[in-house]
Amino acid sequence: MTTETCRGPVTSEQHIELVERYSAHNYHPLPVVVAEAEGAWVTDVEGNRYLDMLAAYSAINFGHGHPALVQAAKDELDRVTLTSRAFHNDQFGPFCRDLAELCDKDMVLPMNSGAEGVETALKTARMWGYRSKGVAEDRAKIIVCGDNFHGRTITIVGFSTDPEARNDFGPFTPGFETVQYGDVDALEAAIDENTVAFLVEPIQGEAGVKVPPEGYLKAVREVCTRKNVLMIADEIQAGLGRTGYTFACEHDGVVPDLYILGKALGGGIMPVSAVVGDRDTLGLFRPGEHGSTFGGNPIACAIGRAVVALLRTGEFQRNSAELGAWFIETLRAQAPDTVAEVRGRGLWVGIQLKSGRKPARAVCEELMREGILCKDTHVTTIRLAPPLVVTKEDLEWALERIVPALAAAAS
Ligand SMILES: *Cc1c(COP(=O)(O)O)cnc(C)c1O
Repeated sequence: MTTETCRGPVTSEQHIELVERYSAHNYHPLPVVVAEAEGAWVTDVEGNRYLDMLAAYSAINFGHGHPALVQAAKDELDRVTLTSRAFHNDQFGPFCRDLAELCDKDMVLPMNSGAEGVETALKTARMWGYRSKGVAEDRAKIIVCGDNFHGRTITIVGFSTDPEARNDFGPFTPGFETVQYGDVDALEAAIDENTVAFLVEPIQGEAGVKVPPEGYLKAVREVCTRKNVLMIADEIQAGLGRTGYTFACEHDGVVPDLYILGKALGGGIMPVSAVVGDRDTLGLFRPGEHGSTFGGNPIACAIGRAVVALLRTGEFQRNSAELGAWFIETLRAQAPDTVAEVRGRGLWVGIQLKSGRKPARAVCEELMREGILCKDTHVTTIRLAPPLVVTKEDLEWALERIVPALAAAAS
């Protein structure tokens, strides 16, 4: 007799066969099938252990299965899972207060995925343009950066400069203009009377952990203030401890008008995103103008409160700053001549290979065989972003494998 359990996949190969056959091929994952995880380490279905050096694109900043976050989720799961915003729930208010306080802002608008958070910020900026700045109907313009990554909706990919993200998905939403990342003069020149916002990543993650020139964000802040344009910081990947600060903008001493948060905000358990800003922007929303069935749900809010509590200790930011500085310095010192550049901030590192070497993907596959999981981006860059609970011993162990794998990229 064939039971459901007998039919169940057992080996990694069998699992991957199912994925190949039954799922859309919109990703090209490394061939590892994770079954369990704790802290900075994951275990595959065969029982092999790997150091997670991607941390789900920084959604796992606090490590896999952080006890305080899992407990918050379990407790709320037993109490109430969903009310919708048609009613109140007893986690929503406290979450918004705690997150607003962490950001030193007046209010929070919660959503689920990062892309929804970005869409929410764009709507907020347009609405502010019409209702507060006095932009003529349907004329609002938002400036974005070349090589940006802000998510996958049609509007968002419409202002991507990556052909892979855009091609065959048009027609796109009008009202966006692109300037080069790091060029504040280009930003100033692009601003006209209809410009409502500048959307920027404090460090460009998907572009390859690109750190902007010193002073860029400060100059952006100054131009936006002087020209009455909202500065929107997409801190979905850069924020919440990743760069050694609660917000990556802090490194430059800059406060944006709107923060977009996601990824780690849900503790790696739930998709939780939010736009955080002051009353003069988010306060303009009226009932019925925006929403989400699951946005602000009690489980998300309970986890989000626990995330804010972890960030308040400063322990994750400190570990990221200290270990990150040491790791980047050591990697730079030991980098073989296949490496063009090691860049990053905190525990967020991009290793750029010289052109004509093996693709970064091949290095990631080799590292997987050595017990390290990380991800290539844009063919020549390996990106490392371990959970912020990673230890110096873990990273020393990793360096002993990363350096030879980089050297082997020559052949
Ligand atoms: C991941 C990411 C997004 C999109 O978040 P999703 O949850 O995947 O929709 C947006 N902006 C940045 C900077 C990101 O890294």
